[in-house]
Amino acid sequence: MSDGKRILLTAHPEGMPDETHLRLEPMAIPRPGPGELLLRTVYLSLDPYMRGRMNPAKSYAQPVKLGETMVGGTVCEVIESHLDGFAAGDLVLAAAGWQTHALSDGTGLRKLDPRAAPVTTALGVMGMPGLTAYVGLLDHGRPKPGETVVVSAAAGAVGQIVGQIAKLQGCRVVGVAGAPDKCAYVVEELGFDAAVNYRDVDFAKRLSQACDGGVDVYFENVGGAVFNAVLPLMNDFGRIPVCGRIAHYNNAASDKGAEGGASELVRTMGLVLVRRLTLRGFIVSDHADRLDDFLRDMGEWLRSGQLRYREDLVQGLESAVGAFQGLLEGRNRGKLLVQVGTDPTLQPA
Ligand code: NDP
Repeated sequence: MSDGKRILLTAHPEGMPDETHLRLEPMAIPRPGPGELLLRTVYLSLDPYMRGRMNPAKSYAQPVKLGETMVGGTVCEVIESHLDGFAAGDLVLAAAGWQTHALSDGTGLRKLDPRAAPVTTALGVMGMPGLTAYVGLLDHGRPKPGETVVVSAAAGAVGQIVGQIAKLQGCRVVGVAGAPDKCAYVVEELGFDAAVNYRDVDFAKRLSQACDGGVDVYFENVGGAVFNAVLPLMNDFGRIPVCGRIAHYNNAASDKGAEGGASELVRTMGLVLVRRLTLRGFIVSDHADRLDDFLRDMGEWLRSGQLRYREDLVQGLESAVGAFQGLLEGRNRGKLLVQVGTDPTLQPA
């Protein structure tokens, strides 16, 4: 059989990745051996961390090697099982990457119950981005009722959840996003108190007006100009969970340490000292111990209608590279997913 497809990393991008770095090619569908499963990818999650995996240098995770299939979280259907505990037709959360089919020995798979929640949520609000929002805000941001929380990339996979959890903690929430419709979405549909567009010329002034009592928690997703505008607004003993810096992901490796130069670092550290701030970098994979708490609380918030989410679904593996570029440019509206194959849960019985 050769009617599978995959996307390989064929060159390390400098700047925006495109089809010269990520090549779609046909693939023979592999045959499962004893103790193995054949998986068919239904949904592929596209996430900002993937840009780091395309660089040659090790970050907190190993880079993808040239010639290897790009990594990624997936929802898959078991097509053929030679492994106890799994049967054809099961839907699983997997890490099959940017391809239509994959083999698995069952390691790291989680069975999904489509009656409990749409299976796409396992890659979004009930999955890695949701857990990131949950631990980043609650464990590292430690918000208290009445405090002001600012979140950047506010309309995205992580940001939309951060703001709503902060509202559930009794906080005042200000979102920062890059388009008027994204700002309207977080205020009108998600209940944030205010939102500011960082592309507006008077962004820093508008942000300051929206946070007139200062900022107690800044959930940092982007870095760059947004970080520079929020930092002076931080209140004494403020907390900054450092989740991501997407504004810098396409920078050359040599630029990353020098962003803003030494004077900016001096200014930042000055404010960290005098305001007694806590900046805390965190990586979601260090927080597996919180998964059960997260699934319990998030399941309850979704069932009760206290928390909402938006997904942005593009069709076909061949759309993945363009969609990933869109993620780095702000074209996605909510959690970005690629539908790679037919979703059996949406088929008429
Ligand atoms: P999103 O769904 O939020 O998509 C990315 C968004 O980032 C874009 O839509 C865009 O929104 C915004 N963006 C892109 N470029 C810039 C820029 N130059 N300046 C400001 N905003 C920009 O992605 P996620 O919610 O999945 O990820 C958000 C952040 O969280 C990322 O930095 C990611 O790396 C990080 N993350 C970290 C994890 C961890 O373990 N620490 C785990 C998961 C995610 P806009 O239109 O508003 O510009």
